[in-house]
Amino acid sequence: NNEKISVGDIEDIFKDSYPLCMINLHTSLKKEHHLKHWGRMQYGLFLKGIGLNMEDSLRFWREEFMKAMDSDKFDKNYAYNIRHHYGREGGKISYSAYSCSKIINNNPPGPVDNHGCPYRHYDKSNLKAMLIAQGIKDKPLRAILDLAENRQYNNACLRYFETKHELEETSLVMDHPNKYFDESRYILK
Ligand code: SF4
Repeated sequence: NNEKISVGDIEDIFKDSYPLCMINLHTSLKKEHHLKHWGRMQYGLFLKGIGLNMEDSLRFWREEFMKAMDSDKFDKNYAYNIRHHYGREGGKISYSAYSCSKIINNNPPGPVDNHGCPYRHYDKSNLKAMLIAQGIKDKPLRAILDLAENRQYNNACLRYFETKHELEETSLVMDHPNKYFDESRYILK
């Protein structure tokens, strides 16, 4: 995917091209003007993976967080964290985005967290409400809920992808949120 994504594009494309985990993080961030540590890690590294550079990422997080705090607080408590994703702080390691298996198997979210995989970590009624909010209904809705219940989280994600993109059964393997995004942009742009 060679599409150049900038901060201004995100609001236009997230509903069509984000997997459910990232839709959840993005909408929570917009609602609360904040995400807790693991949410920032999961979403921040995904944003890096879709092609936001460090300056764009800082602008994105700053704009949103500053709806609930002043610039000094953001700079002191959060900017470091974003630069860290890009290897500009601490151990100078440049981190890569989390795969589905990492999201599904590590750091399960607590009651006030928004990270994780909705198919794995959210109870059935929450998951159902999230899917309906994205326009999924009837047969695909039942199929996705059944797959999640049967612990076929990646297949539930794939079925969601196929439904959103009006595809018949594909042979894709949905094992990384950035792969979901790239496949979606490839189809939609
Ligand atoms: Fe996100 Fe992967 Fe779960 Fe899909 S299967 S919602 S991409 S963590």
